[in-house]
Amino acid sequence: MVKTLQLIRIIVILAVVFTPFMKVAAQSSNDLPVYIVQAGDTINSIALRFGISPQDLIAVNQISNPDLLPVGTSLKIPGFEGVSGTLTLSIAPLGANLRTISRQYEVDEDTIIRLNQLTSPAQIYVGSTLILPEKNPSARIKPLKALGEGESALETAAQFLSNPWKLVIYNQKESTARFLSQELIFSDISGDESGLFGSPWLKNIEITPLPLRQGKTHVVRVYTSKPLNLSGSLNNVPLSFFKEQENQYVAIQGIHAMAQPGLALLTLKAQDDAQMSFEIEQPILLEPGYYPQDVPLTVDPSTLDPAITQPEDELIRTVTKTATPQRYWTEKFRVPVDEPCIRSWFGSRRSYNNSGYIYFHTGVDYGVCANNLNIYSPAPGVVVYVGELTVRGISTIIDHGWGVYSGFWHQSAPKVNVGDFVETGQIIGEIGGTGRATGPHLHWEVWANGVQVEPLDWLEKVYP
Ligand SMILES: [Zn+2]
Repeated sequence: MVKTLQLIRIIVILAVVFTPFMKVAAQSSNDLPVYIVQAGDTINSIALRFGISPQDLIAVNQISNPDLLPVGTSLKIPGFEGVSGTLTLSIAPLGANLRTISRQYEVDEDTIIRLNQLTSPAQIYVGSTLILPEKNPSARIKPLKALGEGESALETAAQFLSNPWKLVIYNQKESTARFLSQELIFSDISGDESGLFGSPWLKNIEITPLPLRQGKTHVVRVYTSKPLNLSGSLNNVPLSFFKEQENQYVAIQGIHAMAQPGLALLTLKAQDDAQMSFEIEQPILLEPGYYPQDVPLTVDPSTLDPAITQPEDELIRTVTKTATPQRYWTEKFRVPVDEPCIRSWFGSRRSYNNSGYIYFHTGVDYGVCANNLNIYSPAPGVVVYVGELTVRGISTIIDHGWGVYSGFWHQSAPKVNVGDFVETGQIIGEIGGTGRATGPHLHWEVWANGVQVEPLDWLEKVYP
């Protein structure tokens, strides 16, 4: 009820201020929003999409033969008072949330929720398809800027030569005092044309590939208009940003192979020298990796004992945690053996000694298929660990920089020492069967900022 009153108040304000520009007459059937029939649509599917009855749809549009619905037909959609124009399918871009869409399309949040039958605002994520009224793009309210610390909406209005009361109305506020620090401000004029996400400093954010996928390496690239300090997280893992070139920053981030599919959150915080800052939160779809289940494995029970596995896992996590500011590789990684016969793939779900499929295979296993046992460094880097472990056997870890590490388990003999700089193709060890292994093989794994990822991707593509 309170919300309805607020809405009425806003509509009254809008009506008073924009009387010359706005139609405020009660909605006749000519004012109903219009949906253009797409291939594959039926009366029932359209009614279902908008949550209305097929009978109402047929009646309003005076359809004589509901089975004949040519693609491209304009259908009036009843039940959405206050919405007019053509309803189109739009893909939510990076930076979109219920509030920004409401302001940009000048449709209240409740209507967007009803149009799209959303059960939660979190259902709006990068790549989600939304039904929104198409309006004259030039009239659309655009994000202007985020308010700086201590900066008022009045100052912003003055800065952008805008009427402060327009800001109040566009942003559905009751007064200019109601703006929060760092709040994203909308106006009918744009700030810096290149500015997205409400900050003139932030030109663009790219995440590749999209959607996110279990076990994959993702690259977050941020283009700015001036040097910024960037921080943030992807699916709750803190990102490590590095400067690629002037005003261009990149973070390489793995998504855990057993991460919960659904919506993951990207957060981004940027700060300039004057301590002006802004923050962005963006849900992004995270899809399953569709990894198969390995046949259940039987191993020495001591190699499953948490008293042994946990300190060992912790050691590996610690060694692979630091994101070295230097990036040592510039090309695709090379295969670390001469004959890459794969015995087990990354990501497959594993069960040991009837424990259930609670593990996943953290790397790729190469059998012994060449007439040598050589293990080669897949890329340049610094050797940061050499040692013998209960589960992993004789192990070597190479730091390739920027948070990217390679691990080589179950060796018979290491051929490098901690601190060595190795080149691509340099022999670093010998394939063996030490540790929790059912036979001689090389287990190679790749870490991207603290998360194990599909190593084969690194043979296919130059990251970032
Ligand atoms: Zn393995």
